[in-house]
Amino acid sequence: MLINLISDTVTKPTPGMLQAMMTAEVGDDVFKNDPTVNKLEEMMAGLFGMEAALFFPSGTMANQTAIKIHTQPGEQLICDKYAHVYNYEGGGASFNSGVSCRLVDGHRGMMTAGQVKEVINPPDFYHSPLTSLVCIENTTNKGGGACWDLEELRSIGKVCDEHHLKYHLDGARLWNALIAKNESTLDYGALFHTISVCLSKGLGCPVGSVLLGDKELIGKALRVRKVLGGGMRQAGYLAAAGIYALENNRERLAEDHRKAKEINFLLNGLPYIKKVEPTETNIVIFEIDEKQMTTADFMDKLNKNGIQIIGMGQNKLRIVTHMDYTDEMHGTFMDILPNL
Ligand SMILES: *Cc1c(COP(=O)(O)O)cnc(C)c1O
Repeated sequence: MLINLISDTVTKPTPGMLQAMMTAEVGDDVFKNDPTVNKLEEMMAGLFGMEAALFFPSGTMANQTAIKIHTQPGEQLICDKYAHVYNYEGGGASFNSGVSCRLVDGHRGMMTAGQVKEVINPPDFYHSPLTSLVCIENTTNKGGGACWDLEELRSIGKVCDEHHLKYHLDGARLWNALIAKNESTLDYGALFHTISVCLSKGLGCPVGSVLLGDKELIGKALRVRKVLGGGMRQAGYLAAAGIYALENNRERLAEDHRKAKEINFLLNGLPYIKKVEPTETNIVIFEIDEKQMTTADFMDKLNKNGIQIIGMGQNKLRIVTHMDYTDEMHGTFMDILPNL
């Protein structure tokens, strides 16, 4: 049995999802004539209480589009040093939008309103880049699936308002945060200028992300998506998976969280583990005590048992639970860990 804990993106569509995809009514979405894409976009906008939504092939493209519509070349965005938009989008902020990133030294990928305020460049001081955008991430990926405190997000929103900054949420795993903290999509929709969410992670779709915003911003996003080559034709087959996932796969994320917490608890008690970061959602980040066992040796032993996980750099390892990580796999993994 192969147990893939590398990411929650490794999932394959279930028979129910495939059925929804195969029977989808489609059209040419580049002409906005795909009824299933239109339905998904309407559903998403309604869910978040935002005016409009746009379907994207990837979360990266949705984030990059948001950065593009909120900034002009030469300007600067503020994000945590762990941010996906800074670390894992191929330098897209500078490549696509010509903006620099002002990094904040936050905690587990999360910054405070005070920290954000401190790094805003004075708009009259023309020697420094003009600050125009704040990007936050919930849950934080490199921060180990940590969830923000909604009040802190509101405080940062106030700072953005006071300084006329745009406010973008990279919500690739927002679904996990909503379940873990019992929060509502409407709270988030009321707070941000734009929100990107992934359907291809915890929710189990093969492809797809959505960008949300008001009509004007999404109109601009439509043009940028075209420029980036993200206009898709009969994309309704993919959007159908998204609709199915929204209707069927959100509540079950609690199960991924339970399994991740059980793994966290077990790792905490093992002699060869140096440190396990807190687990709130479906990500477990930990370090091996190299005096007991090398990280390479640990990975090797896991591999021999058919278990795949991923390194995050600086000796940190990451486990991500997901829809295709079954109870049976969980049992096997929990049995193997103490006996490596
Ligand atoms: C996965 C991820 C993205 C983008 O994902 P794609 O692989 O481009 O779909 C963006 N932000 C965060 C925090 C992510 O984890």
